[in-house]
Amino acid sequence: MLQVEKALAAVLSAAAACRAAPSAVPLLDALGLVLAEDVRAPDPLPPFRASVKDGYAVVAADGPGEYPVIAEARAGDDALGVVVTPGTVAYVTTGGPIPDGADAVVQVEDTEQVAAAPDGSKRVRILARVAEGHDIRSVGCDIEKDYIVLKSGENIGPAEIGLLATVGVTTVKAYRRPTIAVFSTGDELVQPATATLNRGQIRDSNRAMLLAAAIQQKCKVVDLGIAKDTEESLMEHMDAALRSDADIILTSGGVSMGDRDLVKPCLAKMGKIHFEKIRMKPGKPLTFAEITSNDPTKPSKTALAFGLPGNPVSCMVCFNLFVVPAIRLVSGWSNPHLERVHVRISHPLRADPHRMEFHRAVIRWVLDDGSGRPGYVAESTGQQASSRLLSMKSANALLEVQSSEQILAAGASVQAILISDITSPPLDKLPAASSPLSSHLVSSAKGALADAPQVAASQNAEVKVAILTVSDTVSSGAGPDRSGPRAVSVVNSSSEKLGGAVVVATAVVPDEVDKIKEILVKWSDIDRVNLILTLGGTGFTPRDVTPEATKSVIEKEAPGLAFVMIQESLKVTPFAMLSRAACGIRGSTLIINMPGNPNAVAECMEALLPALKHAMKQLKGDKREKNPRHIPHAEATPVDQWERSFRAASSGGGCSCDP
Ligand code: AMP
Ligand code: MG
Repeated sequence: MLQVEKALAAVLSAAAACRAAPSAVPLLDALGLVLAEDVRAPDPLPPFRASVKDGYAVVAADGPGEYPVIAEARAGDDALGVVVTPGTVAYVTTGGPIPDGADAVVQVEDTEQVAAAPDGSKRVRILARVAEGHDIRSVGCDIEKDYIVLKSGENIGPAEIGLLATVGVTTVKAYRRPTIAVFSTGDELVQPATATLNRGQIRDSNRAMLLAAAIQQKCKVVDLGIAKDTEESLMEHMDAALRSDADIILTSGGVSMGDRDLVKPCLAKMGKIHFEKIRMKPGKPLTFAEITSNDPTKPSKTALAFGLPGNPVSCMVCFNLFVVPAIRLVSGWSNPHLERVHVRISHPLRADPHRMEFHRAVIRWVLDDGSGRPGYVAESTGQQASSRLLSMKSANALLEVQSSEQILAAGASVQAILISDITSPPLDKLPAASSPLSSHLVSSAKGALADAPQVAASQNAEVKVAILTVSDTVSSGAGPDRSGPRAVSVVNSSSEKLGGAVVVATAVVPDEVDKIKEILVKWSDIDRVNLILTLGGTGFTPRDVTPEATKSVIEKEAPGLAFVMIQESLKVTPFAMLSRAACGIRGSTLIINMPGNPNAVAECMEALLPALKHAMKQLKGDKREKNPRHIPHAEATPVDQWERSFRAASSGGGCSCDP
């Protein structure tokens, strides 16, 4: 039995030899094809100096003042003969040519209309001083003359079609779509439209599935129906496939060990069999050959012939692993391989002792894949029998389970081969919070799957929380992040007390002011996170700079929060007094520096909880929650206790907390 990689190498070398010569294709027909020539820009873009804005072309050195408008050069005009001399301006519109003499544009918003002069000539007041070149696109700034805008081998999508149009190419040389002929084999098969099945019959599912899969790969398809399990019928169908000028022929069934499995001997008669058994599960009987028409009236053409297994799942897995790369090569792709990503599995997997297994799964991206970092998690599609097509439904990846493994525990990392779009797996495929992964993952990472449903819900979260681990060690990969995942699970478990908090982002940065600032600003200003918890970097070592970075971005300080955290931590260690944590508000985001120790994170969070929900509401501008001080002392929450001790402390009365 051949190893999978060797089998694929044999397919690819035959497919490369099969690639047809490229041909000239009209612009819009080129969508989805691979370009077979370099395409150069014959002229620059823009071909003339063009205005970026609607405004006035000026001499920059003139500066603000009132000027006569000597001409109007709108998009589409040539502005030939117009010269802007010092002390004059010309009206221009976006994309319009800049008249000679002008060296900058002042946008309309920075000008003021002035009444026309007595002779009717227009005037404008320029309010802003602009630098030379301001709001002017120079000749060729988007595309230089002779620049190669597209290279041979590139895939042609909508943007590429736009580029071709821009450079005036209306017919391109491209590799044509391969033609794929498909037929099923099997005496038991009947057409899908058959309403009542006689005993022994099943509907032919493979042919429809393979035709659809080939169309999805942008191939032309030829449907040749169902062949009987006789040599005569099989040969007839093979001949018909060759006559259809197919580049690739796909059959399904008839390649196993039964006495009516005659596809292999037929292929052997018509050409050369490259392999007929692979060490893989499912898909062991996959057969691959090159066959040539023996019709003397036609020029001989060699086609790639795949004898795919009859079991529908095996058939589809082999299509993905071997036929898709072959289609890509014949279509002109330079790299035909399927993309792979690392994923963590949500269920334990048992490996086949002899064959590499391709386990069907739905994978998706989560903020914490169990390692404390974002990543893919994979959920099995369930019972993996090769006849059970339901195990292929919704699958967007094949997990590679090596036969050398025995049992892979939930949470283990494996390679996944992508077989379809992974951007939008169905929501019901999200690993559930109760999924076995959560109990199998390293304890620090329990947040992973509990997070997953919340990620989807994060858009509607009441309180968006982001967690930033600040650590040289974690960021360099020298040690695991234990605080980040701990903080995620603390927030998750306190979600309700925080008013519906959801962790929407996590990140790790080294102990560097700029890196810390950059992400704090992004999360506050762009992502509009409500609460940011930083973890670590608040002590006395030379590298501890989290408070400095935080102070440089907050607009208002909130020292009480740090006070409470110190108070809480002092119960555990006197070193708590060495904390320099800063807390404050930027826009409507509250930023809190927490300690780096995972246990301390949990303790501090616990201590802050009574006030955080209220703080979030205030930051969102909810006035109803304005003053909770009316709570009688007997019912006082830690907030009130804290307020009293804080006031005592800040009025010089000392701290009422236990030393
Ligand atoms: P074979 O390799 O021909 O023995 O087929 C293996 C299994 O796949 C048998 O159970 C067949 O009935 C089934 N099978 C073969 N071809 C098809 C098809 N086109 N659609 C659905 N099932 C099929
Ligand atoms: Mg059969």
